[in-house]
Amino acid sequence: MKNYLHAFSNLCYPSSCLGCQQPLAAQEELVCLNCLLDLPLTHFHKRLSNPVTGAFTGRVPILRGTAYLFFQQGGVVQQLLHLLKYKNRPEVGVFLGGYAASTLKAGSFFRTVDAVVPVPLHPAKEAQRGYNQALKIAQGLADELGLPVAPLLLRESASESQTRKGRYDRYLNVNTIFSLLENEAAEWEGKHLVVVDDVLTTGATLEGCLLALQGIPEVKLSVFTLAYAP
Ligand SMILES: [Zn+2]
Repeated sequence: MKNYLHAFSNLCYPSSCLGCQQPLAAQEELVCLNCLLDLPLTHFHKRLSNPVTGAFTGRVPILRGTAYLFFQQGGVVQQLLHLLKYKNRPEVGVFLGGYAASTLKAGSFFRTVDAVVPVPLHPAKEAQRGYNQALKIAQGLADELGLPVAPLLLRESASESQTRKGRYDRYLNVNTIFSLLENEAAEWEGKHLVVVDDVLTTGATLEGCLLALQGIPEVKLSVFTLAYAP
């Protein structure tokens, strides 16, 4: 019903940019060209060693890591992620994932990647939100790159208390909540998988995912997040 109303309102009123609220031009979608060109790019993908890869150093080996945008309080990235996570706008994730991939695909970051793996949400949380925002970003990336999305992970229990715990507790916690869907995993032996999430903060969630994916023999792992908010 919500989607229907949204589609209906777009018929009645010209769409406006989700960044600056100015009317969109005919060929623009969701975010206007000015806002797109103003996005605070990290350019982390140009360096093999950067703050994202650094978050996993000595914890779990990754081939490459990047976060596409800087998350700034009150900035357009925060605004877009808020719509994606809390305002039932899954298309924002698909759009931004696709846009990021379109600007990065000429480079080496995704060159040897075989599939895109979204960080899973706890099923109860996903039911409440209606979708997994990391999956939406993964779909946008995968479509643009011509790669499959491989949902290989299961999140076993909610971790409501996670934010109240210290780093070590959090580490133990994430290790117990992600597991590999063994049946699906077999076909990715020796392949290069990029794990995708919306925001990288401590890296604890992604680390849990990477550790679970290491259950695939000879797998190579990389990390892509839309935003970086240490
Ligand atoms: Zn705009």
